[in-house]
Amino acid sequence: GHHVSSQRIRFQRRNRPCRYDIDRFAPSFLSIFESLVPSQDEIAKQKQLLTSLSRIINKEWPNSKLYLYGSCANSFGFSNSDIDLCLSIDDKEMSKVDIILKLADILHAGNLQNIQPLTRARVPIVKLMDPETGLSCDICVNNLLAVINTKLLRDYAQIDIRLRQLAFIVKHWAKSRRVNEAYQGTLSSYAYVIMCIHLLQLRRILPCLQEMEATYFVTVDESNCAYFDQVDKLNNYGAHSRDTVSRLLWAFFHYWAYEHDYTRDVISIRTGRIISKERKDWTRRVGNDRHLICIEDPFETSHDLGRVVDKFTIKILREEFERAANILQFDPNPSVTLFEPY
Ligand code: ATP
Ligand code: MG
Repeated sequence: GHHVSSQRIRFQRRNRPCRYDIDRFAPSFLSIFESLVPSQDEIAKQKQLLTSLSRIINKEWPNSKLYLYGSCANSFGFSNSDIDLCLSIDDKEMSKVDIILKLADILHAGNLQNIQPLTRARVPIVKLMDPETGLSCDICVNNLLAVINTKLLRDYAQIDIRLRQLAFIVKHWAKSRRVNEAYQGTLSSYAYVIMCIHLLQLRRILPCLQEMEATYFVTVDESNCAYFDQVDKLNNYGAHSRDTVSRLLWAFFHYWAYEHDYTRDVISIRTGRIISKERKDWTRRVGNDRHLICIEDPFETSHDLGRVVDKFTIKILREEFERAANILQFDPNPSVTLFEPY
């Protein structure tokens, strides 16, 4: 039947060599990357917003601290992306919802605009707009793991520039093809960056920082986060590899289209390896976690970043991976066709 023949096609394509002229497309992918990177001016405005909000909030809560996290701090953010902030506050008396509501009051008094406390969201936040910089942001409370995984991603990005080049293009592809919507059953930007790190670890362009001797340690809600963070000592790590961004893109999509074993494998940047679903007990659906594509969170190791993917969206994702792999293999103009809107 159809199933058998599509399996056979996948098997045949598994060892398909990369097109001989793949490197020819590197310059056009690099110029797309450059066009997505935020300007120095924008980064300065984000810092300015962090400073002014910290000042307003600290007046009321002297022991609190405001952190930037997500794409504006992990170095995988596009120009004009929203700003994610996390307020860390140790107050045993108040619930998260109370803190969010009080925070909204504090921000009102500080002349910020469009303030909306969203207390019923899975992660409660306050949204706001700063009239001074024109920037919009979301503030969450005590989500320190997100602050730490932001640092891990930023540290990986410093080791080899090709990680940012690859991840920007993959994110741009995912946004153009509408497969970057975790609340609709596809994957978050965070998951795509982890997938890129994993590929570069397999190709020895990136090390596995969590397997090296730790220089950075924190414990957040029972998770021990420890890894080697002196990444300025590693900036020659990938120098042996001459892979261009276009070759890495080909490898990324080829891997997810034809090589990844969706029935058995979990990708893990914590170990720098592929581990088995069996070992993690991710072989069957538990509650809403279906484990149809398994991406281990580097710190919350019981957390599968692919758990939002269901039996419909897994098909969409795999078809998009195959489309992208075939464009990179055959299309005369891959740096245009890849991003054609869905
Ligand atoms: P975008 O440019 O699309 O806004 P982003 O880097 O802000 O990308 P998001 O997927 O919106 O990525 O996530 C924001 C941050 O929230 C991530 O950097 C990560 O720290 C955290 N995060 C997101 N999803 C998860 C998750 N499933 N588990 C743990 N942390 C997550
Ligand atoms: Mg974001």
